[in-house]
Amino acid sequence: MRVEPAHQLIFGSLSRKFFTVIVSSHKIQYKEVMTHKAGFVNIIGNPNVGKSTLSNELIGERLSIITSKAQTTRHRIFGIVNKDDYQIVFSDTPGVLQPKYKLQESMLHFSKSALSDADILLYITDTVETPDKNNEFLELVKKSDIPVLLVINKIDLIQQKELEDLVDFWKKEIPRAEIYPMSALHKFNIQNLYDRIVELLPESPPFFDKDALTDKPERFFISEIIREKILLNYQKEIPYSVEIEVQEFKEGPKRTDIRAVIHVSRDSQKGIIIGHQGKALKKLGIDSRKEIELFLGKQVYLELYVKVSKDWRDQDNFLKNFGYEK
Ligand code: GDP
Ligand code: MG
Repeated sequence: MRVEPAHQLIFGSLSRKFFTVIVSSHKIQYKEVMTHKAGFVNIIGNPNVGKSTLSNELIGERLSIITSKAQTTRHRIFGIVNKDDYQIVFSDTPGVLQPKYKLQESMLHFSKSALSDADILLYITDTVETPDKNNEFLELVKKSDIPVLLVINKIDLIQQKELEDLVDFWKKEIPRAEIYPMSALHKFNIQNLYDRIVELLPESPPFFDKDALTDKPERFFISEIIREKILLNYQKEIPYSVEIEVQEFKEGPKRTDIRAVIHVSRDSQKGIIIGHQGKALKKLGIDSRKEIELFLGKQVYLELYVKVSKDWRDQDNFLKNFGYEK
């Protein structure tokens, strides 16, 4: 419990029930019971309905962490938003509604994780896909008791009357869902959705460290980008035995200089990362740099090193450096 002067309180982000008002002789004070909220928001929906576009808008500038470390076995986390009084973990479920998965497999994943672990389901559909496409998992959504926020995206593509019909359809389909007609592309109605998510978050301590990682989100983006490129460029087992450490991040007026070390645990892996005549590492560097430039909106000079840090996975100091431990 904390007593704070009125001017320090952010009214919009705290739900009213946590305040009691005490009127003293010369000023009004708000006695605040600081209740922290945190939860997993699981974004689901078919390909092409606008999940990426919407999550970028929802998370985008609010993002404070995105990190490969913040993975659970069941979720793929693509953004964590930290505020003083809440933490939203945006995630999806690997295998859900990916075309490469057979329906049954995705059903399995879906029923096991998306519906049991999420605090809020963000179900995205759009004005283009045929609404009867997802009967099977819709049944599961209907049966679960997790709050569902149903986004009908791309409303810029249809007329009012059509939208009304579509809203009616979804109201019948999932009566307990709250429906958010939206245009992620034109940034329409996104803030309302975000505010509702915050409202629905359960009271909970944060799931991920709120302080340690928030001051330098760029570094984590950068290691994430390099990791992603490693995933794309090398065989399966390699990405799981590397750790990226961004050692230097120097922002100049026009160019950002970045030095990153790719830690591997064995000599043989170092050879694989570097490749014949250094070609593989060079390609990795170019691919990573391009993406980092897009992300930072700036020219980037990227130096990549490969270092054998023997069995880093088993060494406490390494794990600590990489943020695996508190
Ligand atoms: P995802 O596969 O569900 O992640 O979908 P994407 O976010 O990649 O979007 C698929 C396509 O739909 C892209 O071409 C987007 O530009 C487009 N899109 C996303 N949101 C909207 C929207 O609100 N209106 C329109 N007209 N197009 C959109
Ligand atoms: Mg996508």
